[in-house]
Amino acid sequence: MSQAPASPHQSVPSVDRVLNMAGVAALAESHGRQPVTAAVRAAIDESRAAIDAAGIGDAARGEMAEELATALAGLEETALTARIAARVEAAAAPSLKPVFNLTGTVLHTNLGRAPLPAEAIAAMTAAAASVNLEYDLKSGRRGDRDSHLEDLLAELTGAEAATVVNNNAAAVLLTLNTLANRKEVPVSRGELIEIGGAFRIPDIMKRAGAKLVEIGTTNRTHLKDYAEAIGPRTAALMKVHTSNYAVQGFTKSVGGKELSALAREHGLPLIEDLGSGTLVDLTRFGLPHEPTAGETVAAGVDVVTFSGDKLLGGPQAGLIVGRRDLIRRIKKNPMKRALRPGKVSIAALAAVLRLYRDPDRLAARVPTLRLLARGEAEIAAAAERLRSPLAEALGGGAEVSVIACQSQIGSGSQPIERLPSAAIAITPAAKKKGAALNRIAAAFRALPVPVIGRVHDDAFILDCRCLEDEAGFVAQLGGLSQP
Ligand SMILES: *Cc1c(COP(=O)(O)O)cnc(C)c1O
Repeated sequence: MSQAPASPHQSVPSVDRVLNMAGVAALAESHGRQPVTAAVRAAIDESRAAIDAAGIGDAARGEMAEELATALAGLEETALTARIAARVEAAAAPSLKPVFNLTGTVLHTNLGRAPLPAEAIAAMTAAAASVNLEYDLKSGRRGDRDSHLEDLLAELTGAEAATVVNNNAAAVLLTLNTLANRKEVPVSRGELIEIGGAFRIPDIMKRAGAKLVEIGTTNRTHLKDYAEAIGPRTAALMKVHTSNYAVQGFTKSVGGKELSALAREHGLPLIEDLGSGTLVDLTRFGLPHEPTAGETVAAGVDVVTFSGDKLLGGPQAGLIVGRRDLIRRIKKNPMKRALRPGKVSIAALAAVLRLYRDPDRLAARVPTLRLLARGEAEIAAAAERLRSPLAEALGGGAEVSVIACQSQIGSGSQPIERLPSAAIAITPAAKKKGAALNRIAAAFRALPVPVIGRVHDDAFILDCRCLEDEAGFVAQLGGLSQP
């Protein structure tokens, strides 16, 4: 019979002893000594905590305690090594990972919005090296990072000049701060939007140093409301695209063309935040019409801002296009330096903009447009192909069927439009559906490439609109834990 340990913790091996175990030494060889030592410490702490939780105090020394402590400590070398390996690998894995977005919301802000075209991904990789970001290769002098984007944006929007910042919220902030600091900007009460993530026009206006002058009413604003609001302290007129809601019924708003005439008459610039914005007429993809940046510029709006990663299908960016003199002032604002995008974003955006020079091939090359344009029949066929592999993986614990559903564009674009789509509905056999649904959703999230769906009406729904890699999806289903 072995000697009982003085304290149950003594049965837990020392850090050094564990580090010298063959399997752990091999881990340190491949992952480095520091992360492996940290994992060993954590595994040992875990064992101690387990012993304490089991209530094996000083009073309970003896054979029983020793046996229990030994078992809890996972002293068996292979088991301990496996636990440490799992910790080291979990700590080494990136926390940002690709997921299958089967939520039915194509531009899902929490899931990174637009998936990028292959051309953009290649450009980002190339730009990761040293590049001529702000360096003129002809003269050998300092260059301008906007030079990689400005001509493309001018060509695609018809604007005289352009600049780019980190996102559209930054574009609005910078534009207002440049053109209306300490001055007034009339905005229709029907356009005082709030979008997700605490972006509200009145708040942004305040932070930009501009004074919001609310005009008109929620449902109706007339040209004379703008005209009456113009005074000596007015710096600009502003329109905001009500991207994430719709005012319907007895409504009136003033279009860019009418408003630009009024702005011109008073020598004021007209700003429009398009939100999503796009560079092509989306009706060519069977989608509802969304004002394009080009149409907005042509209507006479002096500065137009829009997002890079919404309907454009590119990286996160805020695009500002418009009159040369105003864009020049915007670029000169010291705040621009704080809001500028990095070289990788610029490379991706330039690659996406180049794709827009060939509108006929856009649907094939820009994933966002391709996914939005995907027809119901094609999606239903994909869902049908996936039904039996899924049913098999779930092993009879749930009913798997194909249903019609409706996708949405997302990110506040066309909030009331729905795109007919098809989904797989997984209905658990269990009586307590709520708990079973949560377990199913968690099992899909735990896959190597997490699958994100939504729970609706006692079923876990996987909208197949955005599922392009069917083989990759099926290949990992074996790892699904049974609900
Ligand atoms: C989405 C949106 C923004 C913010 O754009 P981000 O690129 O997400 O910063 C601003 N205004 C409107 C109208 C929007 O729809």
